This record gives sequence, C-alpha cells and structure tokens, in this order.
Amino acid sequence: MRTLVLNAGYEPLAVVSFKRALVLVMNQKATVVAADETDPVRSETMIWARPSVIILRSYVRIPGRQVPVSRRGVLRRDGQRCGYCGGHATTIDHILPRSRGGRDSWENLVACCLRCNNVKSDRTPAEMGWRLRVQPKAPYGPTWLVRGIERGRPDWDEYLAPIAA
Ligand SMILES: [Zn+2]
Repeated sequence: MRTLVLNAGYEPLAVVSFKRALVLVMNQKATVVAADETDPVRSETMIWARPSVIILRSYVRIPGRQVPVSRRGVLRRDGQRCGYCGGHATTIDHILPRSRGGRDSWENLVACCLRCNNVKSDRTPAEMGWRLRVQPKAPYGPTWLVRGIERGRPDWDEYLAPIAA
C-alpha cells in the first residue's frame, strides 16, 4: 500500500509507503486527506486506517520545476473566491474559453462561482464587461516531479486528474 503525498498547495509531491506516511502524520508534518478504512494497521493498543492521500502542513519548495496545474490547486490559490464577483467559488473558469483556444494554465484558470461560470459561458471577460479581481499566475513557482505516481489508486484521481471544464 502506497500513499500519495500532496504539498501544502495540493499538488502531488511524492509517493511513499503507508508506513512513511503514518510517521509523517504522527509527527504532525502531514494530515490525512483520504484513508483506506478496509484494511487498518493494528498495533497492540491502536488501530489506524492506512492513509492513501496525505497533505503536508507546510509548503516544501524545490527549485527549478513547474507547479502542475490542478483544479484543486486553482481553487486553493484563489482562496475559493470567484475571480469575477468574489463570491464562494466551487468551479474553475477558463478566462479565455477552451473552445477559443484557452489553455489549462495557471494564467488562464481562475476560481469561479457557479453563477458567473454559467453566465460567462464561452465569452471572455472583456466581452462580458468583467474585470478579474486578481491577475492569475502560477502559485509558487517551483515544484516537483513525482515518482511512482503512474500506478495510482482510484482515490488519488481527484488529485491527479486533468482539469474538467
Ligand atoms: Zn462569481
């Protein structure tokens, strides 16, 4: 059983053994995001669910790599505030719509509330007469390549999947 380690910004950082993951959690370096309850780890006095996804409590910087863009990452970067109206955001918006060549990039993605997302549809902010509250950019700069991620678990998908519209 392996555990996906997310950096504090939600981007995948590493894959480690569940034992290593438990140590990180017990040392309060990380928090469990998802766990496998079906096959717990037992000691004489304790039972732990095996962590399948954990998130580090503080951000680890490794220079020279690009932060992979992710849906969760965009929402987190923008504090779950809609980039247009400032309301509670649960979706992400392609500023330049994908149908018009907009890319899945940190610069072209912004957290967006459902209402703004529906109203905006396939238009640009300029066409709507809207202004972005902040200029979106890659959150921290450097990040990591993750070894062992290709043979993942189903409950990792949310953190690895490409961005949905
Ligand atoms: Zn909005």
